[in-house]
Amino acid sequence: MDARRDDPDEVTVDDPPAKDPACDGAAVDVLIAGGGPAGCAAAIVCAAGGLRTVLVERADAPRDRPGEALHPGAEALLARLLPEGFESVVGARHEGITVGWGSEPRFEPFGSDEDGPWRGFQVDRRRLDGLLLDRARQAGAEVRMSCRVLEPLVEGGAVTGARTRGPGPGRAAVVRARTVIDATGRARWASRTLGPTGAGRARSPRLLIRYGYAVGACPVRDAAPAIVADHTGWTWTARVGAARYQWMRLDFVPEQRSRSWLPEEFAGLTPEGPARAADVTWRLCGAAAGPGWFVVGDAGALLDPASSHGVLRALLSGWTAGGLTVAVADGALDPHRAAVTYRRWLYEGAEHDIHNLAGMYATLGAQGFG
Ligand SMILES: Cc1cc2nc3c(=O)[nH]c(=O)nc-3n(C[C@H](O)[C@H](O)[C@H](O)COP(=O)(O)OP(=O)(O)OC[C@H]3O[C@@H](n4cnc5c(N)ncnc54)[C@H](O)[C@@H]3O)c2cc1C
Repeated sequence: MDARRDDPDEVTVDDPPAKDPACDGAAVDVLIAGGGPAGCAAAIVCAAGGLRTVLVERADAPRDRPGEALHPGAEALLARLLPEGFESVVGARHEGITVGWGSEPRFEPFGSDEDGPWRGFQVDRRRLDGLLLDRARQAGAEVRMSCRVLEPLVEGGAVTGARTRGPGPGRAAVVRARTVIDATGRARWASRTLGPTGAGRARSPRLLIRYGYAVGACPVRDAAPAIVADHTGWTWTARVGAARYQWMRLDFVPEQRSRSWLPEEFAGLTPEGPARAADVTWRLCGAAAGPGWFVVGDAGALLDPASSHGVLRALLSGWTAGGLTVAVADGALDPHRAAVTYRRWLYEGAEHDIHNLAGMYATLGAQGFG
């Protein structure tokens, strides 16, 4: 399977600039690259804080993508970011997950409080991302769809904006900004274009995850998602909509699987399109922030989905970077202090997650995680 071809987040960053770029040189307070959960959270916070905010997203519209099973912890944050409409993107809810981690699968609840059991939930990612983009616009951000960041502008060692292309073929611009936020997900725009400063290193063996969808009935999977793991890898199965199911398979050692492969549990279901693949090698961005720039979401810290809260981490990091950007603009915080604060927050959380996940894989006897 060709990961680059299958992975929608693989991006070529060295496209030649258009022949006659119409550089508008416009200056804004914040330029955000990427309109996923991390970029939108940052845009909402910055625009609501009164900053002139431009968000550029290379896709022409939000699209279906994995990342549909959300941890109960994401609900409070989403409710604050999306005061209206949030319930409309929520699908099935579940009170826990069936876990077979080198053992017989059993149901593990998330927990509970005086209001009852905590519940995770499935979201329609296309609609969630669309709602977040709308909210960013409503808060005052300018959202440019079909527009991608090319190379960053670096002056005196600081990132001061970026060259962009689109919307429309050949249309190029220079956007100067006091703060630049990289929220390009696994495309890792800043890391790839800033070279050694931002590169970071892989923190796991190369991990390729396969995933796909199937339709039909699988009653055993209707109450809660399941993750079943052994020394060869893990398989996730979940209901994501009415009569629609999702699977993911991560092999610790690369395994050839046909495009029509389905987990045993889904044997009676009909695959919906071919299987897809994504590179989810763990990565921590080498320089996740500096004075006037932040790297948020998957672009800053990436773990495979067994860490279970990629979307929550994306929202939180966008929210945090946005809040720090507003504090700097208000004169309440020095830009260096803001960068140090963000880096510490991101690295402590990510190192904690890496430690936990490596420990969980060690219990299975998987090699190379440490
Ligand atoms: C198979 C799989 C299953 C997953 N399942 C779950 C799950 O169940 N629960 C969970 O919480 N997480 C899950 N995750 C992780 C989750 O999808 C991510 O953590 C989350 O989407 C990260 O959000 P983000 O905003 O950082 O990046 P993204 O959501 O990837 O958004 C990045 C955006 O940047 C845009 N972009 C890229 N390059 C450029 C450019 N040069 N210019 C402009 N725009 C650009 C992209 O088009 C994209 O819209 C899963 C991931 C995978 C791969």
